[in-house]
Amino acid sequence: MTHPERGLTVAERIEKVTQQLPPQTKLIAVTKKISVPLIRQAYQVGIRDFGESRIQELEAKQSELKDLSDITWHFIGHLQRNKAKRAIELCTWIHSVDSLSLARRLDQLAINQTHRPKLCLQVKMLDDPSKYGWSVSELKQDLVGLLECKSLDIQGLMTILPLGLSEPQKLKAFEGINTLAQEITAQTDHALNLQELSMGMSGDFQWAIQAGATMVRVGRSLFGDR
Ligand SMILES: *Cc1c(COP(=O)(O)O)cnc(C)c1O
Repeated sequence: MTHPERGLTVAERIEKVTQQLPPQTKLIAVTKKISVPLIRQAYQVGIRDFGESRIQELEAKQSELKDLSDITWHFIGHLQRNKAKRAIELCTWIHSVDSLSLARRLDQLAINQTHRPKLCLQVKMLDDPSKYGWSVSELKQDLVGLLECKSLDIQGLMTILPLGLSEPQKLKAFEGINTLAQEITAQTDHALNLQELSMGMSGDFQWAIQAGATMVRVGRSLFGDR
């Protein structure tokens, strides 16, 4: 693989990515393993949405960046049950609700909270044993259970594609997620109103945008290799 963006500053990389995004698509800068000074550089050029995949790391960075009070924090990693309460307290968004049991846990915890994060359900359009999340058929089976979670603010679907797909396969998989969100919204008569599509990373965000992504989660293209 070549690295054409090597040598660019974080500001220049952000500019390059931002130019490719339609105005309605939110850029979430994924800062796992990225240092606080680099996060500040991103903030200085206008980034306000940051994504982390571990609660401990998110907590540490939040406390170091307390002075930047208008940051929106997104949790994008697998959430362990024992960290669920912390995640609710710390995050505006949790993109990675990946099982009915986690959804039920968050629902119980959310009953006592004034602040309820916005949630995405993590779905695998294609089989991928190395990833968390529902398969399409599992999600359809769990819809009834999800609808019983009355305290959750479920806003959309999230996906991570398996490695090694061709460009047409990437586009097709992202389009499948979009269609699935519309199907579920219609089937549940908007009880689950899945308007947000969190999809696309450094390697595939162009196709995610084409398929209607509302949020892209980009790390390496902004900060370089971790
Ligand atoms: C790391 C990560 C990203 C960003 O990936 P890049 O390839 O660095 O753009 C996006 N989403 C999730 C869930 C991640 O863990």
